[in-house]
Amino acid sequence: MGEFELISHYFAAAACAQAGDGVALGIGDDCALLEVPAGEQLAVSTDTLVAGVHFPHNPDPYLLAQRALAVSVSDLAAMGAAPIGFTLALTLETANTDWLQAFANGLDQMARACSVSLIGGDTTRGPLSLTLTVFGRTPKGLALTRSGAQVGDLLCVGGYLGDAAGALPLVLGQRSDDSTAAKALLQHYWSPQPQLALGQALRGKATAALDISDGLLADCGHIAAASQVCMQIEVDKVPLSASLQACADDQAARQCALSGGDDYVLAFTLPAVELSPLQTQGWPVHVIGRVVAGQGVEVLDGYGNKIIQAVGGYQHFGRDGG
Ligand code: ADP
Ligand code: MG
Repeated sequence: MGEFELISHYFAAAACAQAGDGVALGIGDDCALLEVPAGEQLAVSTDTLVAGVHFPHNPDPYLLAQRALAVSVSDLAAMGAAPIGFTLALTLETANTDWLQAFANGLDQMARACSVSLIGGDTTRGPLSLTLTVFGRTPKGLALTRSGAQVGDLLCVGGYLGDAAGALPLVLGQRSDDSTAAKALLQHYWSPQPQLALGQALRGKATAALDISDGLLADCGHIAAASQVCMQIEVDKVPLSASLQACADDQAARQCALSGGDDYVLAFTLPAVELSPLQTQGWPVHVIGRVVAGQGVEVLDGYGNKIIQAVGGYQHFGRDGG
């Protein structure tokens, strides 16, 4: 199959490549054309996923496509942006029709779940890798950045942490487990749900936000550095799913939640007055700590003792302090 036939059959013809909101011209020309209404800004983010680095070799193509798109769209969620479209630069070793069809189906499923249109891309031959660029829009001045956290704000997350890290031994084939709990962890790893609605609900309320891709400690470190404050986390408040607790002992589950990546749950800082209205409206807002003067990230145990102190990166884990 030639490059053009491949593009038109699997990508241009996909449901998610048909005209969407904000897309004036999609696949087929030299550029796509996007509409950004007056008073809004364009939010843009790119992610590359490489086989053997960001996902295992020989992945299920349906799950790979779902996950790649979810990971990219999650960056829009973290800015409080509404998705418009995405491009897909795909490098393939061979053009296998079953593989491509499953990949296109996975992409389509996640694209529809996120209301985002495939607007273009590039197709090349080589070791399997994907680069997705997502485009979204947000009212001028209301994007959620990493730099606005204020001393006194609450530190919150939008859901359970550690599931994706808990799934990693299963993903890598180091362990096998057919339990319902293990399946739930795998589902979270392969099909994370970008918190788009939450991100938009936090516009004008959260002072800083990001999506947790590298792990809670590392990512809170990014907010701390950008905002020049210290993020204090109470370890007992970090929400853990029943699935993770069923698959890992307490210590391991907590380690997954603090240091494991790939969850794509939002972490954000919130003035205390904003908390109860959001919770009353049913948004998943879990308070796990607060913003204090200083720098870096501190983790406190149930007695208020510092069990981790990380300035400029997560460095130390132990029960005996500092
Ligand atoms: P050009 O040579 O002008 O860069 P291409 O031949 O690479 O154009 O692509 C033709 C059209 O198909 C363009 O609109 C491009 O955005 C789109 N396209 C190419 N590869 C993909 C892909 N993997 N997914 C979606 N659209 C693609
Ligand atoms: Mg090209």
